[in-house]
Amino acid sequence: MTSIAENIAAIRDRMTAAARAAGRNPQEILLCGASKMNDAQACRDAVAAGIDCLGENRVQEMTRKLEQHAYDGVSLHFIGVLQKNKVRQVVGRVDLIQSVDSLPLLDEIEKHAAALGIVQKVLLEVNVAGESSKSGFAPEAVKQTVETILARPQRSISVRGLMSIPPAAAQKGANLPYFTKMHDLFVDIKPLLMDNKEELYLSMGMSGDFEDAIAAGSTMIRVGTAIFGARSYGAPS
Ligand SMILES: *Cc1c(COP(=O)(O)O)cnc(C)c1O
Repeated sequence: MTSIAENIAAIRDRMTAAARAAGRNPQEILLCGASKMNDAQACRDAVAAGIDCLGENRVQEMTRKLEQHAYDGVSLHFIGVLQKNKVRQVVGRVDLIQSVDSLPLLDEIEKHAAALGIVQKVLLEVNVAGESSKSGFAPEAVKQTVETILARPQRSISVRGLMSIPPAAAQKGANLPYFTKMHDLFVDIKPLLMDNKEELYLSMGMSGDFEDAIAAGSTMIRVGTAIFGARSYGAPS
């Protein structure tokens, strides 16, 4: 079995090759480890190996691993389905909430961020393939949604870009049209969000399809299995 450090090095090589092939600068693409169901030590190993950020899916698991100092020294993101009643446990504890899938959720985040006196950075999740099993804004609604948000007096959230989870790729190239659609949307809303000089993100691409995502313009890939190995669901954690 290869180590987490070796896996990350191999992914970096593949990211570089994919970026070069697309005429892009490899340094403009972040590697975010999707560390769900992996323990605190696995997270620390990924941090030691130079991962750019770690993303968690479950509030309870993240809270436990925060107590175990799993993420010390790295940027922490929330990437999973977020229930409104758990927002309090996430706002201010992560640098970026990638999975904002509705305006009511955004409002709840805003409320808690305002109470803390912080600005919470978020991405809007887009249901790019219109899958009924997934949440997220419809692609057609993204630009209007951004305009709606920007027209509000809310100042405790900052929309930093878009995130998407297309269908599990059956074969190489299968998700390229979705990634291209996401990039088009990103280009569309970028001018609206550029006013403050902070970075904007297009988060897309996972273990099975990140090269296609990079070809289409992803600036952040979220990789789990290819870093940490297969997740053993049902095992005690
Ligand atoms: C688990 C997960 C990933 C990574 O998936 P892999 O296929 O294991 O690389 C990426 N994004 C989200 C939102 C996830 O839940």
